[in-house]
Amino acid sequence: MKRYDYIKARSVDEAIGLLKEYGPRAMLIAGGTDVMVGVKQGKFSPEVLISLREIEGLNYIKADQGSLKIGALTTHRELERSAVIAERFGALKDAVDNLGSVQIRNVATIGGNICNAAPSADTAPPLLVHDAEVEIKGPGGERRMPLEDFFLGPGKTALSPEEVLLGFSLPWPPEHAASAYWKHSRRQAMDLPILGVAMYLEVELRDPDPLKRAQKEGASVEAQLEALGESDILCREIRLALGVAAPTPIRTKRAEEVLKGQRLTKEGLIELGRVASEEAQPRDTIRGAAWYRREMIRVLPKRLALRCLERIFRREER
Ligand SMILES: Cc1cc2nc3c(=O)[nH]c(=O)nc-3n(C[C@H](O)[C@H](O)[C@H](O)COP(=O)(O)OP(=O)(O)OC[C@H]3O[C@@H](n4cnc5c(N)ncnc54)[C@H](O)[C@@H]3O)c2cc1C
Repeated sequence: MKRYDYIKARSVDEAIGLLKEYGPRAMLIAGGTDVMVGVKQGKFSPEVLISLREIEGLNYIKADQGSLKIGALTTHRELERSAVIAERFGALKDAVDNLGSVQIRNVATIGGNICNAAPSADTAPPLLVHDAEVEIKGPGGERRMPLEDFFLGPGKTALSPEEVLLGFSLPWPPEHAASAYWKHSRRQAMDLPILGVAMYLEVELRDPDPLKRAQKEGASVEAQLEALGESDILCREIRLALGVAAPTPIRTKRAEEVLKGQRLTKEGLIELGRVASEEAQPRDTIRGAAWYRREMIRVLPKRLALRCLERIFRREER
């Protein structure tokens, strides 16, 4: 392995200064779970690693003026253990529960997961459906942008070479809203997804009782979908995002339009899945074939919608 210097930045400004000083010879490192694998494999060969880990104030999960703020250095383990994430940002909780191993989650950060910009980054689809914005700092000051515009290609982001990701801002979801993420992989943990699908759903519960009853009885997915048809639930807002279905994690906005403002039904969800699978641009990879990914994109939104509704009902009953 090539030798490198390791410098601990004490503040964001110091990190920016070091990036300026060393230019393309330097690379930022947070938890190091992607960087060190890349260095060992010869994918990157930085002369200087600038560590962000000692910087105070970049590790937080806090409610702030109608939004949730998450610091870039927050580890997946901290997200996994956060009550507010479990309660209101279910898709993110689903993602971190099955990301790597406990050892990985203890050191790996959400900022590193997003800046690594892998199409398979598990936290990306949940953050996308929650309409996350990224907060960035560089020599010219701070700026914000929608996460959707942040991914430019595999391993490529909108960060300029002297910028640091500070964190994320997610709008606080209204009462009758929930989200869920499905990591489709051969094993539950320690495996990257073959496909990742996240959904955010906001509803008006006009007559949810048939579906509530079916869920309480532990009915099959098919039976729950039939019960959904007998219920009257209006879809106020729906967002769907996919991982490993295109060169970057993506939102499927054409599919979302199918159900926005409509009554939630099995037929509507089938149509949404069909349009989403058309919008996706999956490739054949060693983890899975493109046709298989398209099939799963068609199928999974139904399950995710039922899971979101279950979460909305559970909160309503408390
Ligand atoms: C065994 C193993 C299992 C894994 N399993 C999964 C999995 O199931 N799902 C999954 O999504 N990933 C998985 N990963 C990948 C990895 O753990 C995650 O992507 C992790 O979140 C990366 O975070 P990190 O803090 O370790 O990032 P690092 O490796 O430190 O950095 C990653 C990239 O982000 C940049 N960076 C980091 N922080 C910042 C910042 N604040 N500002 C600007 N740039 C920054 C770095 O320069 C680098 O380019 C796995 C990795 C391993 C080794």
